[in-house]
Amino acid sequence: MFKLKLWGTRGSIPTPYTPEEVESRIRDLFHRFFARKHHALEDVEPFLHELQRHEFGGWGGNTACVEVKAGDTQLIIDAGSGLKGLLPELMKGPLGRGQGEVHFYFTHFHWDHIIGLPFFTPLYIPGNKIHLHAVQKDLPAMMKTLFQKPFFPVPLESLGATIVYHELEPRKPVTVGAQGGLTLTPYLLDHPDPCWGYRLDYQGKSAAYCVDTEGTRISELLLGDDLPMYQHLDLMIFDSQYTIEEAIQKMNWGHAAAAIGIDLALREHIRKVAFVHHDPMASDQKIADAEKQAREYYHFEIKALSKSGVKAPHVDWFFAREGDEFSL
Ligand SMILES: [Zn+2]
Ligand SMILES: [Zn+2]
Repeated sequence: MFKLKLWGTRGSIPTPYTPEEVESRIRDLFHRFFARKHHALEDVEPFLHELQRHEFGGWGGNTACVEVKAGDTQLIIDAGSGLKGLLPELMKGPLGRGQGEVHFYFTHFHWDHIIGLPFFTPLYIPGNKIHLHAVQKDLPAMMKTLFQKPFFPVPLESLGATIVYHELEPRKPVTVGAQGGLTLTPYLLDHPDPCWGYRLDYQGKSAAYCVDTEGTRISELLLGDDLPMYQHLDLMIFDSQYTIEEAIQKMNWGHAAAAIGIDLALREHIRKVAFVHHDPMASDQKIADAEKQAREYYHFEIKALSKSGVKAPHVDWFFAREGDEFSL
């Protein structure tokens, strides 16, 4: 069993719906329900099934957090506000009783990737061991800053759990978990502060978490030592904060358009791509429009490849939403 679950798909800042947005969505759904000549209670479920998922529930408002399970091994990549969703499940296990261990792997320390940490209850329960892994050497300093006034009332020294820091080496694979089998390798992404994506390999299946990245290095030559991150992947989770136009306007802001991930996927024969880190300023419709733009780009690229005599691989890609889970 090799599974990844997205607990947060929003970029930069948690983005809950406003009451006005919920109201407008409910009104719109009622209108559409009756416009289709539905009128009975038993029509509700089939009607909701007919909708695209984002029309019903949106894309999610929580920031970066991915749960990875491989056999008996579990780890968490990034601790954005999405971590809150995973918390109840973890608290039912040994972490709730002060007998647990958990491993976090951080890409970088921008707020949207760490904001869930101060509210992670197992940190306050004596007996727990919380392992924190990152390439960045300032991981302990980041924790000290995060857990101090005026940012947070509880200082790091007062946490009940034992915190264990692990410094990862760039591009050096590490074996995760007592059972072995799951390998994790950090590779450099393209972001204003150094940000390390992770490639995960387990029993012949592979996934990569490539968030946050602008994807400024796409060619094999420019990617150089970081190229193996993208090769022969079953799943790539990739940054798609912007439309193509926005990605050009917001050069050096550290985020990509889905078109970049599509190009990588077509060249590297990546089977599935889940696009995340949706723009917090974008409405559901705007994200749907960005997905439509990416769909047009994908078909254009496929046509161009076949015109030049190359058989384009099929890539199963989509804009992912919070709660999406992938079994590899
Ligand atoms: Zn981010
Ligand atoms: Zn960032």
